[in-house]
Amino acid sequence: MLDKISKLSHILNESFSEKSLESSLSKFFEQNFSTGEIKIETDKNKFQEYDGYVFPLYKHKKHIANIEFSRRTDELDDFLAIVGQFISLKIQNIVLSKKMQKDIDFHDMMKNIAKIIETQYELKYIIPLIGEMLDKFFEDYLSYIFLKKEDTDYNILAWPSACNDNKITGIIQYVDKNILSEDKKIYAIPLISESKNVGALVIKTTEKEITPKDREYLEQLSSQIAITINRANVYAEILKHATLDALTGFYNRHQLEERMKQEVANAKRQHAPLCGIMTDIDFFKSVNDTYGHAVGDLVLKTIAKVIRGQLREYDIAGRYGGEEFSILLPFTEIHEAKMVAERLRRAIENKTIDISKLNPDIETKNINITISLGIYELKESDNVEDLIIKADKALYKAKNTGRNKVVVNND
Ligand code: GH3
Ligand code: MG
Ligand code: MG
Repeated sequence: MLDKISKLSHILNESFSEKSLESSLSKFFEQNFSTGEIKIETDKNKFQEYDGYVFPLYKHKKHIANIEFSRRTDELDDFLAIVGQFISLKIQNIVLSKKMQKDIDFHDMMKNIAKIIETQYELKYIIPLIGEMLDKFFEDYLSYIFLKKEDTDYNILAWPSACNDNKITGIIQYVDKNILSEDKKIYAIPLISESKNVGALVIKTTEKEITPKDREYLEQLSSQIAITINRANVYAEILKHATLDALTGFYNRHQLEERMKQEVANAKRQHAPLCGIMTDIDFFKSVNDTYGHAVGDLVLKTIAKVIRGQLREYDIAGRYGGEEFSILLPFTEIHEAKMVAERLRRAIENKTIDISKLNPDIETKNINITISLGIYELKESDNVEDLIIKADKALYKAKNTGRNKVVVNND
C-alpha cells in the first residue's frame, strides 16, 4: 500500500493539467487496481452522466469533481479512502491555476486592446488585430466581429472572412441586447460606445455550452472593443469631413465634390451659367526632385494663395489631387471664365517664389512656376461629374500642346 501511495504522490507532483493527470492516473489505476480507464470530470453539468463506478471528490463540503472508474474493487475502495483527499487537492489546484491563467490572459488582452486604442485608428488594421486576440483567448469557441454598416441598422461580418452559420446570421441582423441562444451555444452582444451601437461580437461553440465566466469575459471585452471601433469610426468621419486641406487651406476633394453637387443643382435650377476650371502644375515632379518636397509644398501653398487672391468671394477653389486644383465659377459664362483663367495663369507665371529659407545651401534663391488650365461650361444635359471630366479633357490638351496655357473645351 505504501508503495502505491508513494507512486501516486509522484504522479500528483508531476501533473499540471487535467489531461495529463487523467492519463497518468488512468495508467496508475489500471496497473495497480485493474480498474480499466478512468475519467476525471470537473464540469458540474455532467456529474450525472457516467457509466461505471464514480468516486466523488470534495473541497470542504463542496462537490468539485468525479473520478469515474470502469471497474470497482474492494482494494480500490480502501485506497481511495486514504488518498481521495490528495487527489481532490491536486484537482483543485489545477482548476484554480487554470482559472488564474485565464484571468491573466484576460487582463493581457484588455491591456493589448487599450494599446490598440492609442496607436491604431483605421479599422482595416484594428479588426484583424482584435480578431486574432479573440481567437486566441476563446480557443474553444469560434469568435466573430460584426460591424454596423454606416447609416443602417445592419451588421456585416468583419472577422473572420466568412460565417456560414444561418443561426448566427439570423441573430446578428439586429443586436441591441445580449442574446444567448436557447442551447447556450451562441452568445451575441452588441458593441456599444457612447450610446452608439457600432456592431456586435459573437462566440459560438460546437461542444459544451458557453460558460457564464466566458460570457462575462466577452461582455467586458466588448466594451473595450466598442470604444476602439467607435474611435476609428469617429476618426474616419473626421478625415472625410475635414473641410479644409491642411497645406493649402482649400476645400479637400470630398468637400469639393459636395460643393460641386450643390453648385450644379443650383445652376440648373436657376438656369445660370457655371464654369469649372481644372489646373495642374507644370513639371512639378522636377521641382520636388530638384529642390526637395519642402519646396514642393511651399510651391503648392503659394499657388493656392495666388489663386485665392484672384477669385471672387463666391468662387470655389479646392485641392482636387496632389497638385491639381479645381475651381468653380458660379454665374460665369465661358468667355468670362477664360479671362479669369488667363489672369490666374499670368499671376502664377509672374510670381517669384523665394526658396532660400528652405534651401540655404544652393545657388538658386527664387523659382518661377507655371500651371496649365482647362475650362468647361456646364450644359443643361450634363451631370455633376461632367464639369470636372470635361474641364480635365481641356487641361490634358493644354499639357500636350505646350503647357503654361489655357484651353477651353467647347463640347
Ligand atoms: P506635368 O507638367 O505633366 O503635370 O508634369 P508633372 O511633373 O507635374 O507631372 P505630374 O502632374 O504627374 O506630377 C505630380 C507630382 O506632384 C508627383 C508628386 O511628386 C507631386 N506632388 C503631389 N502632391 C504633392 C504634395 O502634396 N507635395 C509635394 N511636394 N509634391 C506633391
Ligand atoms: Mg498632376
Ligand atoms: Mg503636374
